[in-house]
Amino acid sequence: MTVGGWRGARVVDATAVTPSARILRLAVDEWPGNDAGQHVDVRLTAEDGYQAVRSYSLGSYGAGEVVELAVDEVPDGEVSPYLVRDVEVGDELEVKGPLGGYFVWRAGGEAPVQLVAGGSGIVPLMAMARAATDAGATASFRLLYSVRRAEDAIYRDELVRGADDGGVPVTWAYTREAPAGWGGRTGRLDAEALRAAIWDPARAPIVYVCGPTGFVEHVADALVALGHEPGRIRTERFGGA
Ligand SMILES: Cc1cc2nc3c(=O)[nH]c(=O)nc-3n(C[C@H](O)[C@H](O)[C@H](O)COP(=O)(O)OP(=O)(O)OC[C@H]3O[C@@H](n4cnc5c(N)ncnc54)[C@H](O)[C@@H]3O)c2cc1C
Repeated sequence: MTVGGWRGARVVDATAVTPSARILRLAVDEWPGNDAGQHVDVRLTAEDGYQAVRSYSLGSYGAGEVVELAVDEVPDGEVSPYLVRDVEVGDELEVKGPLGGYFVWRAGGEAPVQLVAGGSGIVPLMAMARAATDAGATASFRLLYSVRRAEDAIYRDELVRGADDGGVPVTWAYTREAPAGWGGRTGRLDAEALRAAIWDPARAPIVYVCGPTGFVEHVADALVALGHEPGRIRTERFGGA
């Protein structure tokens, strides 16, 4: 049922994918489909009527009534620990959307495309990588994905498989601990790491940056300093420091 823009949504799958994140699949009433990069608002209602609303990006795109979210737990958060630990298959939530018309990629759109993700910021960029794969457009795509440790990477298996199989090429960056045998440096993305992983500014890529607010601002500033046109950098901030 849809009331005031809120659609009923039933959890049809809940799978732990990292020590702190789950992928949730929701069957949404009368879902109209969505573009890669859009998000929904999720509303939870407690038995006493108390409600909480948070935004979550869609890892899925296109038609179909089942959408995919990936939620990373923010310690001491109000909503994310519930979605990561407690919600069960069969539970009912509400969603509003699809929302957002700027942070999207559609087949046939501008190229080349650079995706830059920090942590759970991979979610809308995963939808774009999937859309690019389906559209046969991966040759003009690159992804730079920064995570604390390899085990924290949401969609790691799909990204590695895809990159090995003609999908979007991925450059990994580790801020806390790199896997054994890793040749690169560990730590916050610096200008050199960005320059090495990202399309040259002379090619005028469109760059999508998504993650915690501090990550997005740091990367966007560094990209401008490297010569990328500010108007070609699109950002989605997830909150936090
Ligand atoms: C457009 C959009 C899309 C989003 N998509 C996703 C998504 O795909 N997956 C996902 O896991 N999250 C996503 N988020 C973040 C999400 O909306 C919540 O902010 C997050 O789950 C924390 O909610 P909470 O109720 O658990 O924490 P709250 O109770 O709201 O906050 C607790 C504390 O954590 C801080 N905090 C809030 N958000 C973050 C954050 N993202 N990182 C670090 N600290 C934070 C707050 O400042 C506060 O101090 C998205 C946010 C936006 C705006």
